[in-house]
Amino acid sequence: MEIGLSEMNRINEDIALKVNTKLVKGESFSIYYKNKNIYNNHSIIISFVAVSNLDDKVVAYIVHYSFGDYVDIILNKVQKLFWLLSALAFVLSIGFAFILTNERKKQRSIHEFAVHDALTGIYNRHGVNEILKQQLNEAKRSKKAFSLIFFDIDFFKHVNDTYGHEMGDYVLENIAKIISKEIRSSDIFARWGGEEFILFLPNTQLGHAVRLAEKLRIVIEEHSFSSIDSVTCSFGVTAMNADDTKESFLKRVDTLLYKAKESGRNCVISDLNLN
Ligand code: GH3
Ligand code: MG
Ligand code: MG
Repeated sequence: MEIGLSEMNRINEDIALKVNTKLVKGESFSIYYKNKNIYNNHSIIISFVAVSNLDDKVVAYIVHYSFGDYVDIILNKVQKLFWLLSALAFVLSIGFAFILTNERKKQRSIHEFAVHDALTGIYNRHGVNEILKQQLNEAKRSKKAFSLIFFDIDFFKHVNDTYGHEMGDYVLENIAKIISKEIRSSDIFARWGGEEFILFLPNTQLGHAVRLAEKLRIVIEEHSFSSIDSVTCSFGVTAMNADDTKESFLKRVDTLLYKAKESGRNCVISDLNLN
């Protein structure tokens, strides 16, 4: 197919402005032209080849009009490649986001696993150690009361020896369940180790903490643990002092629990008993 004269005239009109500035410079160049009214939007390449005289002065131009279908093919391919790459980038970013979310979930569940006790499902010592420091600082900063209850199952070795280790585990699980039901959602409950449990009570005065410990002591004493006659616990209760560190706070409550054991077990000993 050849480019007709009338189409050439139309093309010349359309490109005149663009071409004039280049012609003045005396350069050889090509123009890419596309118009849906001319040859059904086929690409047309118009090449301007400068002709110089012996003095190297541009005196004429050879103008060549040709169909640039190959340009269309290349453009088409580039466009397809662009869409393909965009789709690939989209799929990759979705995949990456999915992997990232999954990885975060995995890390969260690993952390959850690390800070919880496998038998009872409540926090373990590692978990509360993290929280205690944070809670202590917060209580000091806000000058709010903060109390601790530390308790230990009485003669638990006897439970294991008499009823078996599985029954011992059953008692531990159930004590965790019973206590969890009795405390506020802001209280932090953990298995400190073996048959020892700890309760952090933010915004709680010593008097209230002692009353709660007494209530927990009775709830456990009155609970029926399968075939076991009775299970009791001894409690130590203390409230935070202004100069307490995590260690001094824990040491005091541990000493109070020890005193409760010495006092005959199944009782609550607090700072109030010492004053
Ligand atoms: P006390 O009243 O002085 O606290 O006496 P106790 O027998 O409770 O204390 P002792 O330290 O002599 O024994 C604690 C027992 O707790 C021994 C140990 O086998 C048992 N124990 C610790 N962890 C677990 C556990 O996860 N499951 C079971 N079944 N028993 C446990
Ligand atoms: Mg014990
Ligand atoms: Mg113990």
